[in-house]
Amino acid sequence: MAANRTFSIIKPDATRRNITGAVTKMLEEAGLRVVASKRIHMSREQAEEFYGVHRERPFFNDLVTFMISGPVVVQVLEGENAVQRNRDIMGATNPANADVGTIRKELAESIEANSVHGSDSDENAATEIAFFFKPEEIVG
Ligand code: ADP
Ligand code: MG
Repeated sequence: MAANRTFSIIKPDATRRNITGAVTKMLEEAGLRVVASKRIHMSREQAEEFYGVHRERPFFNDLVTFMISGPVVVQVLEGENAVQRNRDIMGATNPANADVGTIRKELAESIEANSVHGSDSDENAATEIAFFFKPEEIVG
């Protein structure tokens, strides 16, 4: 499959522990290239809209509160089969179930504070990239 893009967030548990470099190193070693990156502090409204698909889930309010509890690093990642490649290096949502060598197994704190977000489809990747980045901010 040709090189394509996905969207990543390094979550507040990782910025708090000053391990954004460690996370990015694992992404790069998995064959992904950071073609856009910025550190932001999301508003509640932004986080609620971003995670709107989870609005009915029991953990929604806690998730939003966690995601605005500190800065995050939003990134566009490029690589062959980028969405699946990123999901593979992220590992399972719950770090207790994640494979050894994945970001969540090695670095995450809990099922909520699990260090990284990654798009789950090409369609959602495009939507999520456009939510945070202007085209001219992405430099491949
Ligand atoms: P993923 O991030 O692996 O795609 P989901 O899209 O299902 O997982 O969930 C979005 C985020 O919501 C997770 O990354 C995690 O931070 C949080 N989350 C998911 N399930 C739970 C849960 N059971 N309890 C608390 N937080 C959760
Ligand atoms: Mg998800």
